[in-house]
Amino acid sequence: MKNQKPILNVAVPTPQRQLFDYVIPDEFIKSDSTELFIPGCRVLIPFGNRNLIGLIVKISQSTDFDLKKLKPIKALIDKEPLVSKILFDFFIWSANYYHHPIGEALLKVFPGNLRKGLPLPKTTTRCWKIDKSYSSDNTKSVKQLDLLSLLNSVDHKTDEFLKACFGRSTISALAKKGLITEFQKSYTKEKVSFPKALKQNPKLLNDEQATVLSKLSIEKFSCSLIDGVTGSGKTEIYLQFAELILKNQRQVFILVPEINLVQQMEAQFSNRFDLEVLTFHSNMTDNQRLLNWTKAKNGEAHIIVGTRSSVFVPAFNLGLIIIDEEHDQSYKQQEGFRYSARDLAIQRASNDSIPVLLGSATPSLETIQNCIKNKYQHLYIKKRIGLSQPPKWNIIDLKNQSISNGISEFAETKIKETISNGKQALIFINRRGYAPALFCNSCGWVMDCANCDSKLTLHKAKQKLICHHCEFTANVPLKCLACDKDSLVPVGMGTERIEEYLKNIFPTIPVFRVDKDSSKKKDFMENLHRKVNGAEPCIIIGTQMMTKGHDFKNITLVLALDTDTQLFHPDFKNQERLGQLLTQVAGRGGRGQFLGEIYLQTYNSDHPLLEKLVKDNYGSFLQDISSEREVTLMPPFRHLALIRADSTHSDKVINFLKHVRSITNSIQPQNRSINYIGPLPSMLEKRAGRYRYLFQIRTKNRSQMHSLLTKLTHQMGTIKIPSSVRWFVDVDPVEL
Ligand SMILES: [Zn+2]
Ligand SMILES: [Zn+2]
Repeated sequence: MKNQKPILNVAVPTPQRQLFDYVIPDEFIKSDSTELFIPGCRVLIPFGNRNLIGLIVKISQSTDFDLKKLKPIKALIDKEPLVSKILFDFFIWSANYYHHPIGEALLKVFPGNLRKGLPLPKTTTRCWKIDKSYSSDNTKSVKQLDLLSLLNSVDHKTDEFLKACFGRSTISALAKKGLITEFQKSYTKEKVSFPKALKQNPKLLNDEQATVLSKLSIEKFSCSLIDGVTGSGKTEIYLQFAELILKNQRQVFILVPEINLVQQMEAQFSNRFDLEVLTFHSNMTDNQRLLNWTKAKNGEAHIIVGTRSSVFVPAFNLGLIIIDEEHDQSYKQQEGFRYSARDLAIQRASNDSIPVLLGSATPSLETIQNCIKNKYQHLYIKKRIGLSQPPKWNIIDLKNQSISNGISEFAETKIKETISNGKQALIFINRRGYAPALFCNSCGWVMDCANCDSKLTLHKAKQKLICHHCEFTANVPLKCLACDKDSLVPVGMGTERIEEYLKNIFPTIPVFRVDKDSSKKKDFMENLHRKVNGAEPCIIIGTQMMTKGHDFKNITLVLALDTDTQLFHPDFKNQERLGQLLTQVAGRGGRGQFLGEIYLQTYNSDHPLLEKLVKDNYGSFLQDISSEREVTLMPPFRHLALIRADSTHSDKVINFLKHVRSITNSIQPQNRSINYIGPLPSMLEKRAGRYRYLFQIRTKNRSQMHSLLTKLTHQMGTIKIPSSVRWFVDVDPVEL
């Protein structure tokens, strides 16, 4: 219906895949101020019997609904859009690309406080300066005199800084005497000037590093992969390239895959630059997160270091995005809005015409494929910096070894050797807890999770059996629940068990365990770094947490206990991931002046993929993986999307996906470039009481996929779906 009043198309946080139409209240029309309504502004809207916060996405002149039935919004919250138009369009593009319900996706990318309707915070900083008429005669306190003499030597200091150095009472006392004055300072758009902004001189680059840096352009969009072996000094290139961007008065975003890597990267940047380096991750209060978000938006933060969700943080004048450890699967959100922060960062950089830098010692297959297609620039660093040599690879064939607590005789000798040489050993096992199962020796019974297709892991320290998929927890039974015999034994290895065993063998040597359970304590990683870099002989037992980015100088032995589980895991990306994990964990060794060695324990010493890794390198290992994916028509040789569904009843979810398949077929029959597989069970078929199935769509080109999913999700919105069934689209999945 044509209409004089503009219609607001509003995104609302609901699972519905549509915008909702509202009208502008009469008072705005009468006062001729309808132009206040701009896409990107929040509005308070009546929705059913609730009031919700929504976002204006579009303003239309007509509506498909009866105009008289459209409700007016209750309030306009923002005077101007929360983010720039180009960024808001990027948010909408992201929701569409991943075929996620637009309202859920759009609101998800904003900090929680904005979703609740709170205003943007003031970002000025409370500062103190010395009163011009000050005289130190008015005080005798040493602390107060120290503070005065500090303020006398500089223009001002922040309240936060002074409080940390001198305490609140000192500040208050001086303020009361009128010797110091408070003011609010705004850092907005303050010019960055070099070399003043350098705290620390750049390190001298070696030839390879210098070549890489010279090939990076600050001017326009380009995606470059720095494919540099572990310990090759990629971070120094990040720092020096960032310096060029900062000199140009532009901001730099650095994404890391995990929270426990944020602090380390932040320290690198704040040690180098005397600029505002802020972090952004989920382990912050809502207020902190919104404050940093706002400072980035205003240009008060020069550098943002954060995890996945930072890809949606606004900027005043963004000049560079760096994705460290680009291969890491943590960049893909696995629940709800299933986006890949790496892929979106590249899209955002392209929209903004700025460079994006991917760094990894073990690039993902899809990134390598994009280099081969010349979409990305492939830059190599093949040597480690300084004197350190690449680690030596070896295999321990378990077929000829006696094994105790998961550690072969040979491996144990190696650990002893390392310790007696005063060096450090890293034991890698990607399983936390004591043992992955509790097993009855007499009847073969195993304690399963009540809600999942998985066994309960024994956690000895907590004296509990815990499901690692749904957190279901049970007490440890004293007798077998099937045959009532006293014959329950833990089978298999976890970090806790290895820790117990090694502490027994090496009672005088420190043994550190690094996993999700042990690292919950505040500053765990910092403390670990300090202790381990104290150079004493020690043993570190770690899960994949230990494979990422950590720089320990004195590890010379790396031992991978369980290579086989992942080698034969059927998920399509698992072998690639194994190669990445092993190469990364090997890279923790020999980073100082001593040679590092890695030993892989396996029953499959002649497996061609392991041979590639051990005798050749990760690059040639990846070529084998690549050939296999090409033959099996899997990514990156096909575009893959999944319709995932789950339900408390397996027949309901299977029937639902069969229906989805028939709809898909009616939209687009299979042909040489489009094919369908499923419904198939997910790798973990039952999880948290729900049966999980998926339907695979593979296409040769991206636009086929996008248009098919657009039509499919639209039609699925019109069919009746059993209430127990939930469904999601997963575009470019990293697991099945
Ligand atoms: Zn039994
Ligand atoms: Zn479970």
